[in-house]
Amino acid sequence: MKKYFKITAAALMLTMLASCGTGGGETETAETSGGDSPYLITEEPTELTLFAITDTRLDDTEVWQKIKELTNVSIKTVSSTSNSDADTAMNTMLMSGEIPDLVFSTTMKTYANEYGPDGAFAPIDELISDETPNLQKQIERKEIKSFITNYDGHMYYMCGVNPDTVSQGWMIRQDWLDALGLEAPTNAEEFYEVLKAFKTQDPNGNGQADEIPYISRFGTVDDLDFIFNATPEWTVDENGQVYYGPARPEFKTAYENIAKWYAEGLIDQEIYTRGAKSRDQLFGNNTAGVIHDWFGSTAQFNDILAETVPGFRLVAFAPPNEGNIEYTRRDVAITQGVAIAANSEKKDVAIKLLDFLFSEEGSRLMNFGIEGETYDLVDGKPIFKDFVVNGDKTAIQILTEMGACSLVYEQDFEYERQWLNEDAKAGSDMYINNGYLTTRFPGLSYTDEEYKRFNEIMTNVDTFRSERCQQWVFGSEDVSSTFDSYLAELDRLGLQEATEIQQAAYDRYMSE
Ligand code: CA
Repeated sequence: MKKYFKITAAALMLTMLASCGTGGGETETAETSGGDSPYLITEEPTELTLFAITDTRLDDTEVWQKIKELTNVSIKTVSSTSNSDADTAMNTMLMSGEIPDLVFSTTMKTYANEYGPDGAFAPIDELISDETPNLQKQIERKEIKSFITNYDGHMYYMCGVNPDTVSQGWMIRQDWLDALGLEAPTNAEEFYEVLKAFKTQDPNGNGQADEIPYISRFGTVDDLDFIFNATPEWTVDENGQVYYGPARPEFKTAYENIAKWYAEGLIDQEIYTRGAKSRDQLFGNNTAGVIHDWFGSTAQFNDILAETVPGFRLVAFAPPNEGNIEYTRRDVAITQGVAIAANSEKKDVAIKLLDFLFSEEGSRLMNFGIEGETYDLVDGKPIFKDFVVNGDKTAIQILTEMGACSLVYEQDFEYERQWLNEDAKAGSDMYINNGYLTTRFPGLSYTDEEYKRFNEIMTNVDTFRSERCQQWVFGSEDVSSTFDSYLAELDRLGLQEATEIQQAAYDRYMSE
């Protein structure tokens, strides 16, 4: 740690010398405006070191320069960028014992929970107080508190926060439906009929049966479960009874159908292996028809392919299941976040900087960038400038390159809505306004013992389950005749015990 603080001191000195050296009005102005800012964290300019393996080095970006102006706190990235593997870089840093003031990772939860109790990271619950009201407000939210509290009762990182709203939904080729005189399916039978028609009636009009009716870029057929009101995840019924979705009768019905659909070529035969580029490939060559995916990025293909695939049009349709239930929605609390080094001598400054990022001003910087540059305030609401939503680069690219959308903040759904195209907006609105989104199973906290046992069991259960599902889909095992032995194997692997652990953790969550 000593060595590390020397580096910081030296770096700070250099920064100060540089400021003096320029002697220019701009630096002076920045310092002075810092003094007047209601967001001032420290009297003296203070630098926090940061570990972050990100494409954009944040230190000198416009957004982080603005944060420095407002708060008097700047960040200095000290992680080596030569190591592009974030996990390796993180482990090397943790092993060295020289932990920067702030540590960022997209999977911070795992590191925080594992190394926090060992003394690597400060419990932020002990740092948060009346002086950090924005963080206080966040960690009092049940879904956040439960998600970031470790088994020892402490919180070792602050997570990124999402709006509790729509994420994915169903989209279908309207141009294909029109070509065949069909309508979007409203239930499982109609879903099958539409896929069958796409497969056999040449909707792309090239004279070949080259259509791949259903595709996914997630490497599973899991999303098709939803059509049968089945779920591959933990879930809870109206009586508060927790159960593992894949052990339910609906799951059997789902796989009986999915296996049939796969055998008839209605599902991409390479669905398990085609990977993340599936949409680009199969919409790009005009062979794909139906998908369950994020509205924002999926609807973009309507713009991207406007010239190469004339008439190409994906539109949203209601979940084709009983009750029109959409089982996905955004996780409010996420694994991405920032931890504070337990050995840092600037923990009070660090926690206040995180607090600033959750303030109204901080949120605006993180979500919308710089006023007058990327957005204007119209009737008190930030509205992106046209080049951000309609430029050559995506809004996300523009914003991340200027240092926004970084580290940890609460995402404003309005930020995303503004760059969604009309078809994506229509899909989002349809799912939100019609109440299709169901409550998701919460992220739970466990005792040390529960945590270890639960993970041990579920690693085996999930591995067996996904292998068996593939065998069903490929037809190497028959669903109807092997479902009971499948259930017996889940039990043998300890599913009952895992369910009891989940139930206890869920009951605690509900009683809080
Ligand atoms: Ca065709």
